[in-house]
Amino acid sequence: DQMQGPIVSEEKIYVSVRMRPLNDKERLRNDVPDWDCINDTTIIYRSHLSISDRSMYPSAYTFDRVFGPDSCTRQVYDQGAKEVAFSVVTGVNASVFAYGQTSSGKTYTMSGITDCALIDIYDYIGKHKEREFILKFSAMEIYNESVRDLLSTDTSPLRLLDDPEKGTVVEKLTEETLRDWNHFKELLSVCEAQRQIGETALNEVSSRSHQILRFTVESSAREFSTNDKFSTLTATVNFIDLAGSERASQSLSAGTRLKEGCHINRSLLTLGTVIRKLSKGKTGHIPFRDSKLTRILQSSLGGNARTAIICTMSPARIHVEQSRNTLLFASCAK
Ligand code: ADP
Ligand code: MG
Repeated sequence: DQMQGPIVSEEKIYVSVRMRPLNDKERLRNDVPDWDCINDTTIIYRSHLSISDRSMYPSAYTFDRVFGPDSCTRQVYDQGAKEVAFSVVTGVNASVFAYGQTSSGKTYTMSGITDCALIDIYDYIGKHKEREFILKFSAMEIYNESVRDLLSTDTSPLRLLDDPEKGTVVEKLTEETLRDWNHFKELLSVCEAQRQIGETALNEVSSRSHQILRFTVESSAREFSTNDKFSTLTATVNFIDLAGSERASQSLSAGTRLKEGCHINRSLLTLGTVIRKLSKGKTGHIPFRDSKLTRILQSSLGGNARTAIICTMSPARIHVEQSRNTLLFASCAK
């Protein structure tokens, strides 16, 4: 007898921004940081611009949380993702996204956050002996609107099916029951190997593809606990390392010149639309079905599900255009 988890009121999307330090390449070009995190929630554009330039763009942006170049990933997790990700142990679906241009720190941030979340989930399981937990893991990649299982050597595209009870299901997706932390690390290296198979230009692929790491937490009350409200709880948390946001930038800034080879990414574009609609609390039509990414994540995005987005950006002047696009996206999402 599967019971519904606790009903959470419609929560807004939790949006934070992480600005990485200048990297060696940027420093060697004598680049300088264009942005400052002036407190925990505000990021400002530095005032080296002429007044006329400054008036074209907002110079201060406020989010739920802003993380500067000295922040560590544990801090980003604790203050930017934990509350959302952790709801999975109480039966609430969740999604945590990393959004930003290529090389802004998405993978760095998201892999650290995933580790932190799993550590915390295991910690919670250890402290709640009154329930029995099963933790399952699956991983997929969406590239050119084609879904691939990262835990399987079979590289053929997976189909999405509509299940009357579960919603959209990824057919034949491998789901491993996690034994422990080391097992998770082994599976991650399988994912890495799978991602690299048949790819000649890896950077190109990683900038165009979305990676979803998914944990399903099932728990049931053991016999000796009598006052437990929920006999069975099942929920899923997704950690999504998105394609580089330059793949959607044309739609965000009409003035940006189309760069060669910079194709619009349908999943990224649709995600943007879905997030903007959800953040406005729209109850009307939300186009989940317009892309593979949003179809797969539908049950972990709308309704009772909780969502956190961590936008990553470079502080460098050379990236100012993309950083602005990222901050605009982040502003629309909150
Ligand atoms: P993306 O996934 O957005 O393309 P990466 O996560 O691969 O970017 O980051 C690009 C490079 O910058 C990597 O070498 C990564 O280790 C480094 N990096 C990213 N964010 C940080 C950070 N907050 N602190 C230190 N180094 C970082
Ligand atoms: Mg990456």
